Amino acid sequence: SQAKVFDKDSRVNTTFKDVAGLSEAKQEVEEIVEFLKNPSKYTKLGGKIPKGALLVGPPGTGKTLLAKAVAGEANVPFFSMSGSDFVEMFVGVGASRVRDLFKQAKEKSPCIIFIDEIDAIGRARGKNPNMGSNDERENTLNQLLTEMDGFDTNSGVIILAATNRADILDRALLRAGRFDRQIHVELPDLNERRDIFKVHLRPLKLAEEVEVNFLAKQTPGFSGADIANVCNEAALIAARNNHDKVNKQDFLDAVDRIIGGLEKKNKIIS
Ligand code: ATP
Repeated sequence: SQAKVFDKDSRVNTTFKDVAGLSEAKQEVEEIVEFLKNPSKYTKLGGKIPKGALLVGPPGTGKTLLAKAVAGEANVPFFSMSGSDFVEMFVGVGASRVRDLFKQAKEKSPCIIFIDEIDAIGRARGKNPNMGSNDERENTLNQLLTEMDGFDTNSGVIILAATNRADILDRALLRAGRFDRQIHVELPDLNERRDIFKVHLRPLKLAEEVEVNFLAKQTPGFSGADIANVCNEAALIAARNNHDKVNKQDFLDAVDRIIGGLEKKNKIIS
């Protein structure tokens, strides 16, 4: 089957209220929202709107969510692709997909292009880039660089990319006029976990004993994605036990399950 590379002209409903914590990161992307809403306000004074920003942080911390919220806040289309879709692609396909993506985005501007897992295509190239390598990943990266250089920022297309490994990226990607801004998205602290719980508890029917502070204290080191999982898992456990509300023990069991899952994942990595 063919990898889904980007969503065509999809409007998103996500806004900043869906993104808990991350107040600094939100503040930084706020400016991008302003650019998208009113590009001429910036360009008529001769300013250059940045082409892109790199969201850097551990898995599950809300990078994709934040990028979507930028599009949602500005009410512009969100085009996305994942770097991992380009691994093991036939020669020429990756580059032509990148070309297509930018072409479509330019037609729909102002808009956001989001590239998840950019490290999968943007890893530093070999020491000898001129040795005639025809590595498809490299072709894709080169096409991306060409596209980024080839469009005028004032076209209203802003590129956000996400990675948890900024250190392995090809320096060319970080050069001025490309991803020259980095926005850090970190694991949530206690207060932020509390706010993330509040978002994900919204749809649940809760027993009165369930306290958001207690849940935040039980989950040090959890990402936003882990917390979303805890809430969903707790609801499923409650249903399995025929509870009519999700109670504290359901949450504790859910936390245990998620911790179990995290430990397994770490074992595989190490
Ligand atoms: P990855 O690096 O694995 O792609 P990511 O940083 O892009 O992860 P998201 O895909 O944005 O993470 O997060 C996954 C889900 O976790 C979100 O859809 C949301 O439900 C929840 N989540 C993560 N961070 C937050 C947050 N700060 N506030 C609310 N929900 C969050």
